[in-house]
Amino acid sequence: MKIMVIGRGGREHSLIQKFAESEQATMLYAVPGNAGMEELAERVAIPETDQEELVRFAKENEVALTVVGPENPLLEGVVDAFQEAGLKVFGPNQQAALIEGSKHFAKQIMEQYEIPTASYQAFTEAEPAVAYIKEKGAPIVVKADGLAAGKGVVVAETEEQAIEAVEEMLDGRFGEASEEIVVEEFLQGKEFSLMAFVQGENVYPMIPARDHKRAFDGDQGPNTGGMGAYAPVPELEEGAYQTAVSSILEPAARALVKEGRSFTGILYAGLIESSEGPKVIEFNARFGDPETQVVLPLLENDLVQVMLDVLEGKDPELTWSKEVCAGVVVASSGYPGGYEKGRPLPVLKAHDQAFTVHAGTEKDEEGYVSSGGRVLLAGAKDKNLARALDGVYNYLNCFEGFSDFFYRRDIGHSSISSTDT
Ligand code: ATP
Repeated sequence: MKIMVIGRGGREHSLIQKFAESEQATMLYAVPGNAGMEELAERVAIPETDQEELVRFAKENEVALTVVGPENPLLEGVVDAFQEAGLKVFGPNQQAALIEGSKHFAKQIMEQYEIPTASYQAFTEAEPAVAYIKEKGAPIVVKADGLAAGKGVVVAETEEQAIEAVEEMLDGRFGEASEEIVVEEFLQGKEFSLMAFVQGENVYPMIPARDHKRAFDGDQGPNTGGMGAYAPVPELEEGAYQTAVSSILEPAARALVKEGRSFTGILYAGLIESSEGPKVIEFNARFGDPETQVVLPLLENDLVQVMLDVLEGKDPELTWSKEVCAGVVVASSGYPGGYEKGRPLPVLKAHDQAFTVHAGTEKDEEGYVSSGGRVLLAGAKDKNLARALDGVYNYLNCFEGFSDFFYRRDIGHSSISSTDT
């Protein structure tokens, strides 16, 4: 069976690595892909959002299953275009993807269906937003309604910061995406992510993961796309996990069906463990990045079969390795601000338990070079988190002295228990 993956990041490389393990996958296409995918897939130079070309290519090449990685094509309706052409595609249609595309819409769903989340109000004018902030006080969170490449959220420690964020956003900082804003209660607690395969009301949860969003050690510096992750989350209690499934993911899937926006694909809940139990920070309509890179290596099923089953509404009977998987992102110096491209990458030495997932890489005559902010992820699996992290950091030793790149040295540290040796 020919399978096409739309996207170019680490998440999509991880999907390709998993599909390559399946005997059902006879040919893999990465559209447009990155250099690391070339070993396993044929790259096709079509932009992720060029629906017409994507459909044409899939038809001409008899692609039997297309999987969409990033949110932008989903929100532009790529799944609808494939379905209209009679092609099999894994991902939510445009209407269902709105759960990620509009924070206000997501909040309305949560409010209406009593899914635990921060209290909020939505605004299109600054004056009432400022009054709301003054009434609630800081800390408080200001969010652009639409997609803003992970930059549309300001966790304000003071009222002044919050008001400044409101004014900037409504002034068009993120264009259409911030014509409306959500101002919400600040939630205290540790974060985790929970992804599930969803088809209508059927929800098949994966194992929980945690990512590290800040650029530097000690959770300092600006927010990034994610600098590392691990799965499962050792200290997360079974009860919190079960509640997240039964009070958040399942009701969200049912709500979308009721609203006439039935969801098929990956529903991702960004959660915070508050003193009142898990609450939603955000929903995404696709696999997380870098969570996918540490969750999929622990999936024991054939991912092709899982997706085919889910599409047919059949329980894929997910089974998971008992190991822990950790991943550390290597980024270009300067990221998430400005950085240079085209810098040569050191060769990672083969290592028993470790693996590499490419993100912003291309190839020249000499070898791999950087082509983006997040360049690659080094990952390892082992019987516990401490050992998995040792595996990753040993693997990354070859980056010592490479001033063109950096990575965090403390991924997972806050979760390593004293028994974890
Ligand atoms: P991405 O697209 O990168 O997943 P995003 O831009 O959609 O992120 P959110 O995930 O909603 O933004 O928020 C980014 C970060 O801001 C969260 O990971 C969390 O640390 C913080 N945050 C968001 N909402 C709240 C809240 N209500 N209380 C406390 N922290 C919050």
